[in-house]
Amino acid sequence: MRCRKCSEKAVINMRQHKLALCKEHYLEWVPKQVEHTIHRYKMFTHQDHLLVAVSGGKDSLSLWDILWRLGYQADGLYIGLGIDAGINYSNESHRLAQAYAQEHGLTLHVEDIKAKYGETISELTMRTHRGREKPCSVCGLSKRHIMNRIAREGGYTVLLTGHNLDDEAAVLFGNTLTWVGSYLLRQGPVLEADRPGLVRKVKPLCRMYEREMAAYALLRGINYIYAECPYAAGSTSIYYKELLNKLEADRPGAKLSFYLTFLQAKDAGLFSPSADVRAEYLHSCPSCGQPTSAPGLCAFCRMFAQNQDLLDDQKVD
Ligand SMILES: [Zn+2]
Ligand SMILES: [Zn+2]
Repeated sequence: MRCRKCSEKAVINMRQHKLALCKEHYLEWVPKQVEHTIHRYKMFTHQDHLLVAVSGGKDSLSLWDILWRLGYQADGLYIGLGIDAGINYSNESHRLAQAYAQEHGLTLHVEDIKAKYGETISELTMRTHRGREKPCSVCGLSKRHIMNRIAREGGYTVLLTGHNLDDEAAVLFGNTLTWVGSYLLRQGPVLEADRPGLVRKVKPLCRMYEREMAAYALLRGINYIYAECPYAAGSTSIYYKELLNKLEADRPGAKLSFYLTFLQAKDAGLFSPSADVRAEYLHSCPSCGQPTSAPGLCAFCRMFAQNQDLLDDQKVD
């Protein structure tokens, strides 16, 4: 297989795009694709002060790398979740994120959940769900809350995450199995800061296949954590990804078309804003100021307020 641009030996063949490229042209092609997505969905400009959520994985580190190469002002945020599970997942991912920042002279904010709130994600889940459930919902809620808080505190105008097409297609697939209008309406490359206290969120890799991002990180020589989060094994989203990969294998391009035709349908008004009923009941959390539909404290503050009560009780004892 030869590169379409220079007829050197190709390192990747993307059947979904009917495109094979050599290493040099692939490393050129990926940032161009991402820049196209940034413009296409009017995500941000070179004047914006960007905050990238960096997990130490291939997607977020590659995203940071691409932004740096395209000349955007992007700082990183690493959230220490305290996930260990025998492989020291959090320490290793922190080390790799730090190493990337140092090599490129970039600023990385580090927020350690245990240091700030008194518990790791694993401990928090044991307390709130008694270990009956995986920590993924607690983890997702905590990450969203902390990312938004740090972005607000630091005066960042846009918050970026490394979600790729495979992530987005799996979420979309889950949402279409239940047809929850409000979720479908809010899924997309850009989540506007349409509520007081929220920072605009964007996903510049939403059109990039996971395989394409893995190839980019490898060819670019980015050191990233290969292991998935140990809690992700057996999750519904991985199951949906496997299903979609089977579909993609038979029909190259199916994942991309599933996602893009959804966005077109949404633009055409297929999902009515009235489906987003939660918007009517939002108010600011009295503790942290972020918008919430829950009565009183937001779900994140409630989780840690219980912890505070427990700690106070222990002190009394
Ligand atoms: Zn080439
Ligand atoms: Zn709150």
